[in-house]
Amino acid sequence: MNERNDGELIVIALGGNALLRRGEKGSFAEQYRNVETTSRYLADLVERGYNLVITHGNGPQVGATLLRHDAGSKMYDIPPFPMDVCGAETQGFIGYMIQQALRNELKRRGIDKYVITVVTRVIVDRDDPAFANPTKPIGPFYSREEMEKIREAHPEYVFKEDKARGGWRRVVPSPDPKIIAERHAIRTLVDAGFIVVASGGGGIPIVEEDGRARGVEAVIDKDLAGQRLASLIGASRFIILTDVDAAYINYGTPQQKKLTQLKVGEARRYYEEGHFAAGSMGPKVLAAIRFVEAGGKEAIIAELSQVREALEGRAGTHILP
Ligand code: ADP
Ligand code: MG
Repeated sequence: MNERNDGELIVIALGGNALLRRGEKGSFAEQYRNVETTSRYLADLVERGYNLVITHGNGPQVGATLLRHDAGSKMYDIPPFPMDVCGAETQGFIGYMIQQALRNELKRRGIDKYVITVVTRVIVDRDDPAFANPTKPIGPFYSREEMEKIREAHPEYVFKEDKARGGWRRVVPSPDPKIIAERHAIRTLVDAGFIVVASGGGGIPIVEEDGRARGVEAVIDKDLAGQRLASLIGASRFIILTDVDAAYINYGTPQQKKLTQLKVGEARRYYEEGHFAAGSMGPKVLAAIRFVEAGGKEAIIAELSQVREALEGRAGTHILP
């Protein structure tokens, strides 16, 4: 059945390029093909005896879902769902793609392991300062008139004008993830030998009030949520896979320098000096720092196709205690 495994537990965070490549429009066929390629890299790790928990981004996917809801409400009067529910939708369909493609690849290789997706909620702090300062643009572009009409129904929405692209866009808070609500279920599935897909898109943000949880209109960074997941389930390594081969200091300048191996203190110094862009490499390095500071053995930032070399210490940026 599902082979139990005493191998090392690693959490892998897949970046946008694991699902979509530059220039693609996002058809299901395109995304599934990319997931099939990604699955070959992941299966190589399973073949080497690693226990995997996989998390992934959902930026373009949830953007498209929000547009579908918007179009559905305009064209067919179908009520659009809130953001947390749209996030849950993307966790479901992306999880399905990974379950199907990775299981097919494992079966082809004769590996008796199964893949399961957990719809995952992530607890954020009700008083997180991000709620007073929404920064993350999401969903469609609106004209001023459309925007004002939406604000009549939703006075709590915040919009910002994007002059370059000519329109108004909703911005939502990006609070810090605190606890992965489904951590015990995920850990139990890992112990039973399953490969688990969890916390997709950074998880569904929820807050707790008087002991009850409710979803909120926000987005959580997937690398920061991935770190909480990795630490809470006791993973020994946390690996962030993206479209660049490493973290660099002085990135994009003639003085840029690839970071291959560094101690967590050094990483924190570079982070505080502002070497890693907010919203892209910044949260990856911060997630790596937090993972090691919470007792993790090693955090790695590497390019997707180099994951094997990265695990063997021959590629990527390695952050150590
Ligand atoms: P993902 O979808 O994998 O999360 P992101 O676009 O969020 O990808 O982050 C990866 C990008 O971060 C790279 O393509 C690179 O252009 C950018 N980046 C910003 N600062 C740095 C840096 N200091 N070193 C390396 N890459 C950086
Ligand atoms: Mg990113």
